[in-house]
Amino acid sequence: MFEATLAGSLPKPFWLAETDKLWPQWKSEGKEREIAKRDATLFWLKAQEDAGLDIVSDGEQSRQHFVHGFLEFVDGIDREHKVKMGIRNNRYDAMVPQVVSKLSLKGRAHPEAKIARAHTKKKLKFTLPGPMTIVDTVADSHYGDRVKMAMAFAELLNKEARALEADGVDVIQFDEPAFNAFTKEAGTWGIDCLHCAIDGLKCTTAVHICYGYGIQQNLDWKKTLGGEWRQYEEFFPALAKSRVKQVSLECIHSHVPPDMMRLLEGKDVLVGVIDVASNIVETPQEVADTIGLAMKFVPKDRIFACTNCGLAPMDREIALKKLEALGAGAKLARERYA
Ligand code: ZN
Repeated sequence: MFEATLAGSLPKPFWLAETDKLWPQWKSEGKEREIAKRDATLFWLKAQEDAGLDIVSDGEQSRQHFVHGFLEFVDGIDREHKVKMGIRNNRYDAMVPQVVSKLSLKGRAHPEAKIARAHTKKKLKFTLPGPMTIVDTVADSHYGDRVKMAMAFAELLNKEARALEADGVDVIQFDEPAFNAFTKEAGTWGIDCLHCAIDGLKCTTAVHICYGYGIQQNLDWKKTLGGEWRQYEEFFPALAKSRVKQVSLECIHSHVPPDMMRLLEGKDVLVGVIDVASNIVETPQEVADTIGLAMKFVPKDRIFACTNCGLAPMDREIALKKLEALGAGAKLARERYA
């Protein structure tokens, strides 16, 4: 009950990459960089175990960015000639690579999952970008149709996901922040593409849908959403009928009405009990209170304690304290609500 886990990313240590950035530059090259990535992965696995998390992740230490870390391993993309594109439904502009020919995988995208697997006996989660979020983060100069391109990416994701499962990964999660920007499409082709991405998997599957990292553009966007954020309402009923087992959502300090969780009948709900847009560290009591709130809408055996989003751009010392609060808060909730 109330297993504790992360949405995904963790800050990169200063000896691996620039800190406090969403797009950090690596500090070394070649073999040195590979060793630094491995060391960072081990550091965070230990930190998650020490904090009492039940399902741990590699903290995305081996990728520069949650979408482009996967795209690096895809052929058919021109990375040299980036173009300016409005992403997340034009919330902000980004310089993005272009799809220029039929997409294919160069080989394994995430062999680092094996390293994480070799160094923990806990359940291991691995995150991949969702198809809709990918097509909202690259420009299309080949397919001429967003859904077709998303499906092409979904097939590649499925190939990688099957390989991750064979590596011993227990939970494969697709990150779909774009669902909150394209709420109508999320419930139709967004979910169709997820089904393609999870096809044939026997491990636990999850989708993470959030209001983004705590970066300024997102904070500004949230100010325009009004007092109640009802985006989830449009596609949660379709998600409840989907074959994805778990849904990771924002809760603490967000303006999402908590009764939205009721729309996810039958799903495991990974409740955001840690705010990633604030440096104030939650207390275990606050974490347990948020779990108590979720219990009004979700049966307790389907509730997981999670973060609102990834912790990548945060200060590492704060991230460590937040992990401890997450683990301690889940433990407190188990005592309180047993
Ligand atoms: Zn997120």
